[in-house]
Amino acid sequence: MRILFIGPPGAGKGTQAARVADRLGIPHISTGDMFRHHVSTGTELGRLVDSIMKAGEYVPDEITVEMLRDRLAEPDAAKGYILDGFPRTAGQVVALDGLIGVDGLDTALEFAIDEDALVERLLGRGRADDSEDTIRNRFKVYQEQTAPLLDLYRDRGILVAVDGLGEIDVVTERILKALGR
Ligand code: AMP
Repeated sequence: MRILFIGPPGAGKGTQAARVADRLGIPHISTGDMFRHHVSTGTELGRLVDSIMKAGEYVPDEITVEMLRDRLAEPDAAKGYILDGFPRTAGQVVALDGLIGVDGLDTALEFAIDEDALVERLLGRGRADDSEDTIRNRFKVYQEQTAPLLDLYRDRGILVAVDGLGEIDVVTERILKALGR
């Protein structure tokens, strides 16, 4: 099963993607986690993306796509995966289509969540790229570049929306139900 988790920053996507992937026995592939790992271990890529992430901007597609392509080539990805935070731009959709086919994803799971609740959550999270200006910019970039992808996956007939607000366990069950599990 290949599943995409899509939604605004701070919606709890990452936490839920990890839990659901665990329950389904498939890997959780988060480009944000991968970039953070590069930053914390001080790789060349990490040095390149650090300031981009701190500004709340998107890493250029060619860099992101190459990293993701290598990850999908790992043996554990053969049984399916949850993609968390990729694709985020129209260009990344085209790249993913090229890698797994236009009908390669089974479900695009949208995290629908109230915006005020989101800002509150993000401010309480304490991550390096969680300053208020960065948060505001991440929203703007999400609205401009990623929100339009919802229509695209809706048109493909694979979009399912889940209310991301609530107890962690309750939301996990909601998602599993939406995925037919
Ligand atoms: P996330 O943990 O998914 O919120 O990602 C954290 C940050 O990593 C984002 O704000 C971007 O700077 C960068 N990033 C993660 N995934 C992508 C992507 N698919 N395309 C571009 N930048 C990304």
